[in-house]
Amino acid sequence: MTMSQDPIAFEAWSDNGSLGVRLRASVMTAIRSFCVSADPNETGGILIGRYVENHRFAEIVQAVGPTPDSRAGRTWFWRGTKGLQDLLDRLWINEGLYYLGEWHYHVRSSPAPSLTDDEQMYEISRDPKWSCPEPVLLIMSWNGSSAWSTAVFIYRRDRPCVGCSIQVASTT
Ligand SMILES: [Zn+2]
Repeated sequence: MTMSQDPIAFEAWSDNGSLGVRLRASVMTAIRSFCVSADPNETGGILIGRYVENHRFAEIVQAVGPTPDSRAGRTWFWRGTKGLQDLLDRLWINEGLYYLGEWHYHVRSSPAPSLTDDEQMYEISRDPKWSCPEPVLLIMSWNGSSAWSTAVFIYRRDRPCVGCSIQVASTT
């Protein structure tokens, strides 16, 4: 699929306008279908993409689903690591894409990060293994019928998390 056939579905800026996140429609669709298949449990994975416009936008072009060693319940998700390093190596070499952060599903609740979510994201921002000092967290929530909400947060090492705007969308 080329970029022109895959329009931007979500674009949000941090409150001070210094950082933005952009998502392609195919990514939104992929995340929603992972959520529908996992429901009523949480699920999640990683976000792949690149920084554009002089590092001011994190453009997410792919969402990877749960690894086989991931574990989840109705109110928690633990993302495994099986196969991710190989995948990231391949994406970098073949397409110049890299790890941008995490996504997960909140079942029948708001897309606000929990304390555990915050802790994990700050940990990632400090972990040299991910080489990602400003990881993005995308939380998708679904009411079980037609209403979806998406919220995006950017965590910056040693600085407060910045929340981008929340988008509420309905599918018919
Ligand atoms: Zn969460």
